[in-house]
Amino acid sequence: MRVLLILTGGTISMVRNNTTGALCPASVETFQSLVPELVNSEVKVDILPFDPMIDSSDVNPGHWVRMAEVVEKHYANYDGFVILHGTDTMSYSASALSFMLENLHKPVVFTGSQLPIGVLRSDARENLLTALEIAAAMDERHQPRVPEVCIYFEGKLFRANRTTKKNAEQFEAFDSYNYPTLAKAGVHITYRDHLIGGFAGQGDLQVHSRICRDVAILKLFPGITSNLVEAILHTKGLRGVVLETFGSGNAPSYDWLYHQLRDAVDRGVVIVNKTQCNMGAVEMGRYEVSLNLMKAGVLSGYDITTEALLTKMMLLFGEYPNDIEKVKQLLQTSLMGEMTIE
Ligand code: ASP
Repeated sequence: MRVLLILTGGTISMVRNNTTGALCPASVETFQSLVPELVNSEVKVDILPFDPMIDSSDVNPGHWVRMAEVVEKHYANYDGFVILHGTDTMSYSASALSFMLENLHKPVVFTGSQLPIGVLRSDARENLLTALEIAAAMDERHQPRVPEVCIYFEGKLFRANRTTKKNAEQFEAFDSYNYPTLAKAGVHITYRDHLIGGFAGQGDLQVHSRICRDVAILKLFPGITSNLVEAILHTKGLRGVVLETFGSGNAPSYDWLYHQLRDAVDRGVVIVNKTQCNMGAVEMGRYEVSLNLMKAGVLSGYDITTEALLTKMMLLFGEYPNDIEKVKQLLQTSLMGEMTIE
């Protein structure tokens, strides 16, 4: 089995600078010396470092394209891929990759850690070695066990585009609130095959790398002003908005809010309703306070995460810059298992 280990940076691959005391990226040699298992494992691991390796707060869509292109370039030569990435924006990158890699039939497993690999109590070693094992795992027909983009962290394997970083301190940094874990790692790794994959087409891997950044997240709060909403909805070039609402997709019933949303939709801005709750789905029409959103032409985001919705919009506007109806239709469709439409 051969796995390509792509190092983009993050805490996992950092060491403490003795002079400043701050964490900074280690060299590949230092990283390798801290994980001798990489050389001795049953899985043959090749390492491909990004230059420079970065903290994931500095990751931007250009890095997503590089990650996707590395997978594409080496796709035929490896059984699976592990991407080491900082935890802060891992859910954004992993969600983006899930939409960029169409017809993916091999595992792309993101992982990282809360403590650097060289620290005695670090969670890095287990996360890395189990992610490599998952990336190399085959079923009884010798097909990849997990043919999708996922995140492995602290004993759990998640569908990438269902994840959110939930904890800045505990080892259990990620959760998938609206979709069950794909596998659990204890003494054995237990895969839940019926929950894995099922959305890749038959054709060859196809990489979508046109990304539109003209999107925004508008989070409602009690007391929000029309000035603020107006400023966001009149952002120059704006194409899409993730509207973070209350509960099952509710919003204040101010007339001005309805008129501003309606006006934006009429100007061709696509607005999608995403609840601020982690768990559960948008259900417009359940309460009177969501009727205005429906009337204004706001679409439902069902149970999608903000990370998945934002990156999906970026990819769809990149792919279909002049076909708003297509973008709307695909936003209402689960493409890579990112949402459940009842
Ligand atoms: N700031 C770090 C990063 O996201 C945190 C981590 O890796 O856990 O790159």
